[in-house]
Amino acid sequence: MTLVESDRADDRSDAIAILQRCERKLDREDHSYRFAISGSPGVGKSTFIEALGMQAIKAGHKVGVLTIDPSSSISHGSILGDKSRMTQLSNSQEAFIRSTGAGDVLGGLGRRSMELMTLLSAAGYNLILLETVGVGQSEHTTWQFTDGFVLVIQPGAGDELQGIKRGITELADIVVVNKADSDLVQLAKIAKAQYQTALHFFSSTREGWIPKILTCSSIENVGIDDAWEALRLYIAYLDQQQTKKQDRVRQKLNWLTWSIRLTAQELMTRHPAIQQKMEAGKNEIKLEPSTAFNIEFEIENLMHDLLHSTDSPAKPT
Ligand code: GDP
Repeated sequence: MTLVESDRADDRSDAIAILQRCERKLDREDHSYRFAISGSPGVGKSTFIEALGMQAIKAGHKVGVLTIDPSSSISHGSILGDKSRMTQLSNSQEAFIRSTGAGDVLGGLGRRSMELMTLLSAAGYNLILLETVGVGQSEHTTWQFTDGFVLVIQPGAGDELQGIKRGITELADIVVVNKADSDLVQLAKIAKAQYQTALHFFSSTREGWIPKILTCSSIENVGIDDAWEALRLYIAYLDQQQTKKQDRVRQKLNWLTWSIRLTAQELMTRHPAIQQKMEAGKNEIKLEPSTAFNIEFEIENLMHDLLHSTDSPAKPT
């Protein structure tokens, strides 16, 4: 995993060789189910993953978790490390937890999450839980990379309505209203009802699957069996569809587009000529805001020129 996450060119070719072998194995037999566990920072995703993971292990599964380091600038989460956040899971022989550090988290998703999922699947972890922080476009991207999408929310604070407004609810195969304990029990029921109503307005993203909504308390381990049952039913639904091979291809195509777009963005924005022009442009805009559109156009042209100078066919006419 460290090799796969490395940016060094020689590591990359070794990593690709390993990934290819894993993919060949998975092409013969892939028993993994990959779930995105998404939600705003602090809703209790890690706590939920720990509780759900233990339930899945009891049912005979091997659980692979890709999580985001809580010290990551976007998660603003607890200051404790993941080992202490997911104590039971990290002590279990049947689970493997990999935490992605802040630097490798882009828009709420790990830069090498897809590759890490391949490794976990090939190593025999059949329930893969990919934690993503709900920021920007990450939910839609994660949805494209996984077999199922679990949205975790917490009652109150208008969180549920935000999710509905941002169009994330449409993506969810399972909605978990976490923290349904102590004085939040009633609010959790209200949130569940609001989601139930909202879902009537959406057509499901997966034909033949009606999204499940449930409340639970990950801390008190209440309702986790319902959550596991929802996942189990969803897995049965996936099995019935018999589309795993096509799904994996589609996920890889989506990943390729995402990954190349990221690389292109990184390469371009890090280019010294672009950076210089950006800095100069920003100063100019501060003095004379009307120049903004022109500066943007100039930078675009510079990008075209840079591509053209490397004999790329990408320069538009
Ligand atoms: P994440 O940022 O979404 O991964 O959230 P965490 O799992 O780190 O949890 C954030 C905070 O919410 C922590 O203080 C947890 O102890 C707390 N928390 C998580 N689940 C529950 C729950 O079911 N009930 C209550 N009351 N608190 C919870």
